[in-house]
Amino acid sequence: MQETMIKRAKELLADGTVSRVIGWKKGEFAYDTTPAVFETAEELDRDFAFDDFTAANVSKYLVKESRKEGKILAFLKPCDTYSFNQLIKEHRVIRENVYIIGIPGGPKLDAEKIKAKGITGILGIKNENYTLKIETLYGTETMPFYEAICGKCESCKSKKHVIYDELIGEDGDILDSNRFDTVEKLENMTAQERFDFWREQLSKCIRCNACRNVCPACTCEKCVFDNPKSGIENKAASDSFEENLFHIIRAFHVAGRCTDCGECSRVCPQNIPLHLLNRKFIKDINELYGEYQAGADTVSRSPITDYTPDDCEPSVVHERGVE
Ligand code: SF4
Ligand code: SF4
Ligand code: SF4
Repeated sequence: MQETMIKRAKELLADGTVSRVIGWKKGEFAYDTTPAVFETAEELDRDFAFDDFTAANVSKYLVKESRKEGKILAFLKPCDTYSFNQLIKEHRVIRENVYIIGIPGGPKLDAEKIKAKGITGILGIKNENYTLKIETLYGTETMPFYEAICGKCESCKSKKHVIYDELIGEDGDILDSNRFDTVEKLENMTAQERFDFWREQLSKCIRCNACRNVCPACTCEKCVFDNPKSGIENKAASDSFEENLFHIIRAFHVAGRCTDCGECSRVCPQNIPLHLLNRKFIKDINELYGEYQAGADTVSRSPITDYTPDDCEPSVVHERGVE
């Protein structure tokens, strides 16, 4: 797959269709594959990588990249295409300046799950028939591929590309996902148990802002959390109120716009399951306003910004029960 992608990218650069390519390149470590922009065939040959660790969604980079001179080629996995569609809908990317090649999705791997098995000093990782052979400073380790899958891929909602100019490989289908199972477990807790669960999780937050910065729905040019007069500008939370505040405000800001791409949880250095908060909003929207998938298209109105006479009344919260 990687060679096919490089070949096609070089062709599109050579015939002038695009002047840049956004994809991924190898980092310092075997599992450290990160988004990167390439401008020449030589750069592609030297650095371009597409492997089990290319989980990062490159859509958000296109907010800036699509405003630069010339067209850019973007390789988008199925989940990434939902983010890109949502960015089109919100006029945050210039569609005409992006040439999209849809590529197969995961499952992708999470290096933290490998390290959590006590495997350290990692030099190289190979996937041999869904068994990971991990070369380390201390010898070779093995573990099943499926035990190291990225959280967002464990509950993938779709293998279908919702936007592209061309595809490499076959397109997939929307999946019958289990993504709301854990939300349901939280709903079945008492209010106190739920509060305790979220306090335990959010108290770990170091306010690094990685979740906000990676989120394709968080593209405000001036984020409320960067306001120097707010008293909460880019700083570690000083008490539990501030810890909760950041996450509750962010969850409300992205409600109806979050595509459930899972990037927020993927990048959190404290392993806080932030996606559960956003998924609760998605589940509630589905139940209260009818099924809605942000990013599935570029024209529909989010139930949060639309009004119909059938919309539920605020009292529905009490009717559904709060305990
Ligand atoms: S990425 Fe994690 S630690 Fe950083 S601000 Fe978000 S929740 Fe907090
Ligand atoms: S809140 Fe999380 S899951 Fe939702 S769009 Fe942002 S990064 Fe993706
Ligand atoms: S937290 Fe709110 S204001 Fe800040 S970038 Fe996200 S959506 Fe915009």
